[in-house]
Amino acid sequence: MLDSASKLLFHLIARSGTLKKLASRYGLRRPSSFARRFIAGETIEEAIEAAKAVEARGMLISLDLLGESVSSLAAASAATRGYLDVIDAIVESGIERNISLKLTQLGLDVDRACAVDNLRKILESAGPAGFFVRIDMENSPYTEVTLDIFETLWGHGYTQLGVVLQSMLYRSEQDLARINRLGARIRLVKGAYKESRAVAHAKKSDVDAAYARMMKALLTDGTYPAIATHDPEMIALAREWARTHGIAPDRFEFQMLYGVRRDLQSMLTRAGYRVRIYIPFGREWFPYFMRRLGERPANVMFVIRGILRDRG
Ligand SMILES: Cc1cc2nc3c(=O)[nH]c(=O)nc-3n(C[C@H](O)[C@H](O)[C@H](O)COP(=O)(O)OP(=O)(O)OC[C@H]3O[C@@H](n4cnc5c(N)ncnc54)[C@H](O)[C@@H]3O)c2cc1C
Repeated sequence: MLDSASKLLFHLIARSGTLKKLASRYGLRRPSSFARRFIAGETIEEAIEAAKAVEARGMLISLDLLGESVSSLAAASAATRGYLDVIDAIVESGIERNISLKLTQLGLDVDRACAVDNLRKILESAGPAGFFVRIDMENSPYTEVTLDIFETLWGHGYTQLGVVLQSMLYRSEQDLARINRLGARIRLVKGAYKESRAVAHAKKSDVDAAYARMMKALLTDGTYPAIATHDPEMIALAREWARTHGIAPDRFEFQMLYGVRRDLQSMLTRAGYRVRIYIPFGREWFPYFMRRLGERPANVMFVIRGILRDRG
């Protein structure tokens, strides 16, 4: 799954303007279009509808208005306004108040202070309404600055905020101890980005071994951790660790992506675990979609069949 050649290939393809145009035209056009497996739709209304369906299956949700790497202050402000509208719509809809966002979507590449300011605006609106806000983790050039911003805001009392750590990065085990000391909520993932050997494990078995170590540390010492994976082995290990260490199922949650391993999502829910589904939506879905393809090249055939069918 973490085959680095396929990840690299999909990261390169993700930059192709032509493909992006083609995919954007066909990807979500119809209810059966290929990108709908992973993306709930382009509008907040579609995302809320998807969230209600997930909640009806007994699961928790987090909504993510897709977008990243914005290159102007105007685009960062627009994304911030987009999130403020999402917050209002969620409150009105009555679904669970939980969102995920990316700092480069709020302008981190343009101006750090502006990104922090934008995040603060979102938190000022989300906090009083009882939202939990998760800062997604992007590729390794952003790890330190993301944790730094997170810690600063946490120190200013924004404790309805959580962060993500990627087991593929060598540094993450130390970061885990650093964030655990704050008592903050961590989402543990393997890592979706192509990284160099200088900063990340190259072999899947090493990424998995680090994931297992971090998961145990989190379940034992963390604050309501999120075990975010579709890997049945990691899930079995988490269940076993929790059971043998007397950690009740309401002290942590599993998280999975919309459209991935729905069988596992249901199985865990039926077994009495908390399962949160990350529901991405919005017009800027192409890079997210390409990361999902890079994780599982078999998905490509599914997409090609979808394009041929939709064009025909
Ligand atoms: C809720 C959530 C939030 C995330 N947030 C972040 C984040 O902030 N930053 C970040 O870098 N990464 C994030 N990720 C992605 C994560 O880093 C991995 O890239 C992704 O979850 C695949 O790894 P895996 O743990 O499922 O294990 P893998 O070993 O990659 O996969 C295990 C099994 O899961 C299934 N599977 C995995 N991916 C797919 C797919 N795309 N399509 C179909 N089946 C699949 C397959 O059955 C596979 O055998 C997030 C993942 C989740 C679940």
